[in-house]
Amino acid sequence: MNKIICPKCQAVLNPQNNVILSALKKDGEWGLILLSAKLGDYSVNNHESFVIAEGDAVKFYCPACHINLSDFAPNKHLAGIELIDVDKTKKTIFISSVAGENLF
Ligand SMILES: [Zn+2]
Repeated sequence: MNKIICPKCQAVLNPQNNVILSALKKDGEWGLILLSAKLGDYSVNNHESFVIAEGDAVKFYCPACHINLSDFAPNKHLAGIELIDVDKTKKTIFISSVAGENLF
């Protein structure tokens, strides 16, 4: 299975088939979300009480070291995480921080 890690602390962010990220909404509410670890699968899972409206911008943080993952992306609307594939090739992938836009 591909390994997805934090670019700063190298914490593994996908214990199973999902990537776990801390998310901060514009209104200051924090929550954890799950993204599919499969490239091309844009499903997002969040608790029913942690609602991210379509078009809302959220900031993504590493759940282990709390670094703002936008620091690893070319602009603040993206978050960067690293993917290490089964061949141990490392590449940075970018997640849109605007709900409803394609992730990865
Ligand atoms: Zn980290």
